[in-house]
Amino acid sequence: MTAYCNTQLYIDGAWTDGATGRTIDVVNPATAQVIGHVAHAGAQDLRRALDAAARGFATWSSTSPLERSDILRRAAGLLRERSGDIAALMTMEQGKPVGEARIELLAAADVVDWMAEEGRRAYGRIVPARVPGVMQEVIRSPVGPVAAFCPWNFPVNQVARKVGAALAAGCSIIVKAAEETPASPAAFIRTLADAGVPAGVLALVYGTPAEISETLIADPVIRKVTFTGSTPVGKHLAALAGAHMKRATMELGGHAPVIVSADADMDRAVSLLAGAKFRNAGQVCISPTRFLVERPVYDTFVSRFAEVASGLRVGDGLAEGTQMGPLANVRRVDMMETLVADAMEQGARLATGGKRIGNTGYFFEPTVLADVTPGMRIMNEEPFGPIALMAPYDTLDAAVAEANRLSFGLASYAFTGSGRTAAILRDRMRAGMLTINHIGLGLPEIPFGGIGDSGYGSEGGTEALEAYLDTRLVTVRAYG
Ligand code: NAD
Repeated sequence: MTAYCNTQLYIDGAWTDGATGRTIDVVNPATAQVIGHVAHAGAQDLRRALDAAARGFATWSSTSPLERSDILRRAAGLLRERSGDIAALMTMEQGKPVGEARIELLAAADVVDWMAEEGRRAYGRIVPARVPGVMQEVIRSPVGPVAAFCPWNFPVNQVARKVGAALAAGCSIIVKAAEETPASPAAFIRTLADAGVPAGVLALVYGTPAEISETLIADPVIRKVTFTGSTPVGKHLAALAGAHMKRATMELGGHAPVIVSADADMDRAVSLLAGAKFRNAGQVCISPTRFLVERPVYDTFVSRFAEVASGLRVGDGLAEGTQMGPLANVRRVDMMETLVADAMEQGARLATGGKRIGNTGYFFEPTVLADVTPGMRIMNEEPFGPIALMAPYDTLDAAVAEANRLSFGLASYAFTGSGRTAAILRDRMRAGMLTINHIGLGLPEIPFGGIGDSGYGSEGGTEALEAYLDTRLVTVRAYG
């Protein structure tokens, strides 16, 4: 059995405590007990990380793409080898079932591998000139040292998407991972260090989020900011990045609509959507949340979905057979209770769940709230927990209007047997991602990102690498 370990900072190629010796407690959400601590970076540590990142950028940007790719691929291999132990750490600090943690780690290894390959194809181009003797070259250069801010819901995968793309493009990067889940991202960073990423190219810090973001984003060393987290924090960091003219990628919250039409394959829709809803206890930015179901099949869909939800085994993510773990922190349990109470007061019907489980740890029942209406808080604020909201619709126009009502635009889902309906939704759903008749999001080779209040930029596909590359033009006229 893997023992939980304390986490240090990683700066300039060495693991270290913070200069002040300060630490932050880490809590196991299944027991609410303190299981360890993480070092807290202060101003002196951040200065060292910034100076090292500047030196690291000089080294790494002049390392060949082939060599960078080899090192990244080696790291992906180490991550796969170590995934059993790292998964246990992740479950202890984040709560998700250990099988889900292992899947996250293998997916992170795939991301690193894919970016490693794509980094070798950061081609420029030659643009035909208007005048004989002129050569017009478009050159792609790594943007510079990056500051990355990562959340606790996918402690490793969110880091891997940023680090994989930044390193593949030739950037150095300072990661601030989540203080609540520090050990598993540190174990991931160790795979990169062990694979040969040179000192200074990669740093990992923890501390007071606002202090770190304000220091790093304002510093002239940093040229690019990337953040995954809530929309309010994203708006704040995007404004800071704008004030200092830094490029930014923002992966923010969502409130994903799901349209289920009467001609959909019901068995398939219930089973795939329930799996997606309760994965990671619903703490997923692309979690299917607002289920809009065509009226003739609404009651059946609600009862079949509630049956699956109530049958899930909820428990400690390390226990054999657990299908859903606790929520990652007590804030989320409190928020679930508040949002459910508000919805019930306004006439929602509880099809299953709705309550905290037990007195130990941060468990909440898989919940289905039916007959929800747009005025309820939960229909407007991202629940980020194990709650599915259901409402009937009569016309496709009405369903699309509700789907597009919010300022978020991250993921959206549809299940339909009609090619015509699919084509209409393809044109009219206002979201960064739409998956129809399957759960097809989040693979390394396809774009991942939102529009509107869900942010901008992409963390998948070739677009992910673009985010870390500057475009430069050189035009030369031959003499004579
Ligand atoms: P929060 O808004 O307090 O924090 C979200 C994340 O941002 C955390 O990792 C936190 O450490 C970081 N953060 C907060 N202030 C920061 C700052 N000034 N500078 C840099 N980083 C900062 O919310 P929370 O209670 O931790 O999480 C709940 C909400 O966050 C959810 O409702 C959800 O909308 C959002 N969230 C989204 C994702 C995602 O994948 N898009 C992931 C985690 C959380």
